[in-house]
Amino acid sequence: MTDQKTMARAIEILKEQRYYDSIQGLMGWDLWEGLSEKGQPYRQEVSGYFTRQALDQLKSPETKKVVDALREMGPGDFADVYEQGVAHALIDRYQNAVQVPEELQVELRNYTGRAQMAWRDALDHNSFEEYQPWIEGLFQLKRRVAEAIDPNRPTFDVLCDTTDEGIDTAQVGAIFANLKTGIMEILDAIREQHQAIDTSVLDVEYTHQQIRDTAYEINLLTDFDGACAHDSHVLHGMCTGVGPRDSRIAISYKGTWGGIFTMLHEGGHGRYNYSSSQRAIDCGLWGGLRGSMHEGQARFYENIIGKSPEFWQIAYPVVLRHFPQLKQVPLEKFYMALMKVTPSVHRITADELTYSLHPILRFEMEKDWFDGKTKTKDFQEIWNAKYQEAFGLMPKDAREGVLQDIHWASGHVGYFQSYTLGNLYGGMLLEAMEQDIPQWEQQMAKGEFSAINGWLHEHVHQYGMAIPPQQLLRQVTGKDLTEEPFLHYLRRRYLTKLR
Ligand SMILES: [Zn+2]
Repeated sequence: MTDQKTMARAIEILKEQRYYDSIQGLMGWDLWEGLSEKGQPYRQEVSGYFTRQALDQLKSPETKKVVDALREMGPGDFADVYEQGVAHALIDRYQNAVQVPEELQVELRNYTGRAQMAWRDALDHNSFEEYQPWIEGLFQLKRRVAEAIDPNRPTFDVLCDTTDEGIDTAQVGAIFANLKTGIMEILDAIREQHQAIDTSVLDVEYTHQQIRDTAYEINLLTDFDGACAHDSHVLHGMCTGVGPRDSRIAISYKGTWGGIFTMLHEGGHGRYNYSSSQRAIDCGLWGGLRGSMHEGQARFYENIIGKSPEFWQIAYPVVLRHFPQLKQVPLEKFYMALMKVTPSVHRITADELTYSLHPILRFEMEKDWFDGKTKTKDFQEIWNAKYQEAFGLMPKDAREGVLQDIHWASGHVGYFQSYTLGNLYGGMLLEAMEQDIPQWEQQMAKGEFSAINGWLHEHVHQYGMAIPPQQLLRQVTGKDLTEEPFLHYLRRRYLTKLR
């Protein structure tokens, strides 16, 4: 095969693989959106069937031939970064398909389908005991997957690599230690000021519909394209990229105003998903990089934009339109109440400053289990002890503690670090963006988002998954992963702006 023919066939195969992704995405979305209780077994059967179809294609002699030819090609043989991305993506998929036995992949997919329903029931019953065997089962399955991918590397490193290509847990652990120290220093400096902030203005009567409408409109202020997204209301906020211009956003309304930030967060995922260039779509590379880069985009819109005082100059009028009872409350008072830093036991509703600590605790728990230091039967106790140590707080029950996240049930083990890493990526991107758009905050205050969105599109979104994350980060910022720009941003916001 000539290089040209190889590439043409590689793109076809990758695009067909993405069709299977779309089917699984749609079925994953339906799990929460439309599936009846007794419809589960058949859904699993169908999902398993398509998993096998996708694997059969990857393991076929023809794919092997294409992959072998791709491996022969050097950097100079590719027309652009997209072709290089196709080769990278197809080789990666092929390797995973060949290395992880098919039965194991189907078993994992079926197990996570059932585990998510078990998590929901355990949450209803407030019972860690009910959920614990499922955590155990999931962690064991993930261990088998990691060992199949690379039996010679530490299991947890392999798992984290499947979330965030190119990072290792030792590097992440060291960066997290510095970050923890930096955040605790800021927290100590502002603790008294924030304890004195009166949040009673936030306690208003509300309906879910009111919050949903407010959140939806505020998200549109950032020039979010509603024609590429669908929004709905489920138990847990999430965004499923079903197709290149099809982002399914779901919002949960725990904690009133939190719905606004969940919407901006999932909107950030949705935007990254729908903003791929046509070339990325044509190559089957749409949707963005998995893990930290995706979380980074979500958290950029949720926090760096969504929690800035400049953005609230345009967001507050929307709030006032839906909540006329707040008319007497000045923006400054409402905004400071929203921004109050209060260490708590909940990750999702955590304030911006302390948020990064929550995923770090989960990352440490996962790492210790995979290093053989702990047992899942002790997870509730370990969880509570970690919260006691970090925040001086004890979850009052399982629901408030170890049951609060769906992640383990959905198979996202070795994933939590990506939330905190996403913040670090956001900090690095912001530092680079400010060089090009020093007036970005003033623009937001006027409702102008074209420069900000355009910058992110040009430097990150357009590429879809073409360029591996560490390479992309270096290309955009000129640096390797570091916590310093994010800490600098936090200090500016909490030690200077909000004083
Ligand atoms: Zn997210």
